[in-house]
Amino acid sequence: MNSIVTAEYSVPESGQLLEVAPGVLWLRMPLPFELDHINLYLLDDIDGWIVVDCGLGNSDTRTVWQNVIASSLQGRPIKKVILTHAHVDHIGAAGWLCQYTGAPLWVTAGEQATAEEYSLLRGDNADTFSSQANNFLHRLGMDEQQVSGIMGIFTGISALVHPLPDRIEELTAGMSVQAGEVQWRVIVSEGHSEAHACLYSEALGVLISGDQVLPRISSNVSVRAAKPEANPMQSWIESLEGLKALPEDTLVLPAHERPFYGLQARLTELIEEHMQTLLRVEAICSEPLTVMQLVGVVYQRKLNLFDQLLAGGECLANLHYLLAEKRLQCYYDENDVLVFAQPDSF
Ligand SMILES: [Zn+2]
Repeated sequence: MNSIVTAEYSVPESGQLLEVAPGVLWLRMPLPFELDHINLYLLDDIDGWIVVDCGLGNSDTRTVWQNVIASSLQGRPIKKVILTHAHVDHIGAAGWLCQYTGAPLWVTAGEQATAEEYSLLRGDNADTFSSQANNFLHRLGMDEQQVSGIMGIFTGISALVHPLPDRIEELTAGMSVQAGEVQWRVIVSEGHSEAHACLYSEALGVLISGDQVLPRISSNVSVRAAKPEANPMQSWIESLEGLKALPEDTLVLPAHERPFYGLQARLTELIEEHMQTLLRVEAICSEPLTVMQLVGVVYQRKLNLFDQLLAGGECLANLHYLLAEKRLQCYYDENDVLVFAQPDSF
């Protein structure tokens, strides 16, 4: 198969469960954003259920979960909660769901570190987080108004994440998760987040792909304030390459949009798109420019503050990739803002 084909399932109504593979249920959870939903999955574990991802930590999500638990799980308990990664739409309700059901939380160590940033924002170390984020955003070339607006967004996001349980079980690359008769292998990828976990069942031919492979939109790949020197675009592209080892007829169950076939085609398409963007960014940098100036040229439309953050982070990810390949150079200007350019244009 050389193309991407949407699987023949009608999208379940919010709060309804739909079996998409033997013992694998799809639950659509609403999100109050432009991307208006997240797909969660439940794995039948005979005397209970394993949940993969949780939704936002808000009352709409909690209500859906309460209804699902009361009426759709045949009276069987949730035994385990697994997170693909620590972004707010996946982790938000996890702390609450674990407390409500008594289920343990499983997450990779890399994602747990990200998750701790939400509690940092709420706690005594908020100032440390703020100054780190402030410096980072300033160096991208954002003005004070943009920076303070984005700091407000960070605070708003952390309010959508319930505190996590004190004890968290560690999900590791290659480990096996048993759900009933089915073995799921944990595949850890980097780039979209620190240590994103996908679950793959060879027997079912199913990949629960989280945000690692989406059928139409491309996941954001950003340098973040916590790791300002990182090169996540390289990790992201390597992770996509790594997933090419999976069989072509795999049914992909993504966290957004609809289940699909055509994994190889989608991986190739995503890598191609990134390579094209890298070439474009390299060409634009024939003139020295800041990250936010680059955002203006690349996106060519008005972005809201949150999109400016995503776009700035992803442009910096592209710039760091090109820097590592020595296709660009960078320096700090007199205002301590990063400037990138082709090596011969300084
Ligand atoms: Zn994500």
